[in-house]
Amino acid sequence: MANTFVMAGVMGWPVAHSRSPVIHNHWIRQYGLQGAYGLFPVQPERIEDAIRGLRALGLAGCNVTIPHKVNALKLMDVVDPLALRMGAINTIVVTPEGALLGYNNDGFGYIQSLRDAKPDWQAAAGPITVLGAGGAARAVVLSLLDEGAKEIRLINRTRAKAQALADEFGAAIQVVDWSERSEALSDIALLVNTTDQGMHGQPELDIQLDRLPQSALVSDAIYIPLETPLLRAARLRGNETVNGLGMLLNQARPAFKAWFGVMPEITPALRQAIMATF
Ligand code: NAP
Repeated sequence: MANTFVMAGVMGWPVAHSRSPVIHNHWIRQYGLQGAYGLFPVQPERIEDAIRGLRALGLAGCNVTIPHKVNALKLMDVVDPLALRMGAINTIVVTPEGALLGYNNDGFGYIQSLRDAKPDWQAAAGPITVLGAGGAARAVVLSLLDEGAKEIRLINRTRAKAQALADEFGAAIQVVDWSERSEALSDIALLVNTTDQGMHGQPELDIQLDRLPQSALVSDAIYIPLETPLLRAARLRGNETVNGLGMLLNQARPAFKAWFGVMPEITPALRQAIMATF
């Protein structure tokens, strides 16, 4: 692959805020490859044309982000079984024969971000509380189950969405009412926020941490800001925390490997390049 110019990118709407070009172009330079990763602002009604165009343009593939993750799946020739269970893709690989393969690496990114922070982390170490039941929650919950989680307390403002996820993914998921979110933290080993509460421009997550064991790991899918009010409150009371940047960086690794042939590493220089964009 070293002598071929390889093109990839991310389709989204809007997409200008995406950090993916910083990540992939950093790796292209780091590994001395010939290629480029661009931003493709694709309106929702144009997603089919855009995906069909990948083949014609000779791209190695692309990422898809909001709002295309569900609709893009339907346009693939082959969908990875894990992405099929998630009901969404975030990565497309175009084979040399022109077939479109769909993957979802968000769950891989999430689990890997926990392992990077705590190499001995085990999903079965104790009960887990997941806040939220949207796209990020689906990826997080499924990957936690695949890692061997025994008990997941799923808590969402709209209870029916949490219930639907529990019905789909099985008995290890116990739905708890949003009003009981603070009580549901006692005796857990991991707390995950997958709601958008605490994200830049949103109110902070309304939750009391008094019952959370100090041994619990606290993670947030949000990466803007890097330290959400939840993570700050958890850190100040002595809990170990993991922000959403690791999930973002790690989900990019298998995609880069598929397109460029190298499994890239997350180095301090890459983290620095990303931090410079905030
Ligand atoms: P989504 O599908 O729109 O889900 C949003 C979730 O937030 C839903 O569970 C929703 O609850 C909840 N929510 C919204 N407003 C709320 C409020 N006022 N009070 C309580 N809950 C509220 O979004 P998503 O794609 O899952 O993304 C969620 C977050 O994860 C975003 O901040 C996103 O940036 C982050 N994320 C990060 C990565 C990464 O790589 N680090 C990847 C994906 C997503 P209802 O069901 O009640 O509306």
